[in-house]
Amino acid sequence: MNARKMWALPGAELTAPASLLMHGGDATLLQLPCPSFLIEHPKGLVLFDTGCNAKIIDDAVGYWGQIAQALPIKWSKTETLDRQIEGVGYKTSNVKYVILSHSHLDHSGGLTYFPNAKFLVGAHELQYAYWPDPDRRWAFILNDFLPTRGYDWLELDHDIDLFGDGALQFLYTPGHTPGECSLLVSLPNRRILLTGDTVHLRAALNQEATMPIDTDPITAVRSIKRIKAIRDMQDATVWITHDPDDWKEHPHRIE
Ligand SMILES: [Zn+2]
Repeated sequence: MNARKMWALPGAELTAPASLLMHGGDATLLQLPCPSFLIEHPKGLVLFDTGCNAKIIDDAVGYWGQIAQALPIKWSKTETLDRQIEGVGYKTSNVKYVILSHSHLDHSGGLTYFPNAKFLVGAHELQYAYWPDPDRRWAFILNDFLPTRGYDWLELDHDIDLFGDGALQFLYTPGHTPGECSLLVSLPNRRILLTGDTVHLRAALNQEATMPIDTDPITAVRSIKRIKAIRDMQDATVWITHDPDDWKEHPHRIE
């Protein structure tokens, strides 16, 4: 069976130099999309990533701290995740499964929209989110996670076929963070490989380049190679979450 449909829902847009996203990147400033992906499957609605916390629209430094000054944010109240989900005809309460690619601040901000969902996350990710290494603590917002301690979390240290039909394959692709994961989505006419931040830019995929705050660069390269192999062996289109060209070129509703 296939998933029926997938929507790429826009969120905040951050500005950052290529050098923050990949080793070998230069000072060119990039406009980075921070989307979430909503997938309709006969067994329920699945969300991959939740974007940034909407509190940054009014008070980015108050919620994110100093990092908000280094990463200028463009985002409007019409583009919050709950409104985006309503915009395609659903409510946040219809989302049955949330897959978190990893726990950085630009992916975990919307967890609390879904108190009754089942959450899937890579093993070791949540422990790290609560107490990251000091030099990268800026990339995690404890308040995105504290309200979710009682949520229904499933922590996985291996791949799983979500519904047993091949439509949605959770891929354990650690390295960027301890529990980074990707999702292979089989739609009626094509396969999309959502990478989260397993890799950050098309150039990084081509060059198998890690990025400055990867927790385990050797494992990260192994995961990038894995993404490329699945792309080639299974005829999948890779969609790199923050790549501006992927955002521009891929349709935002795919059936
Ligand atoms: Zn990210």
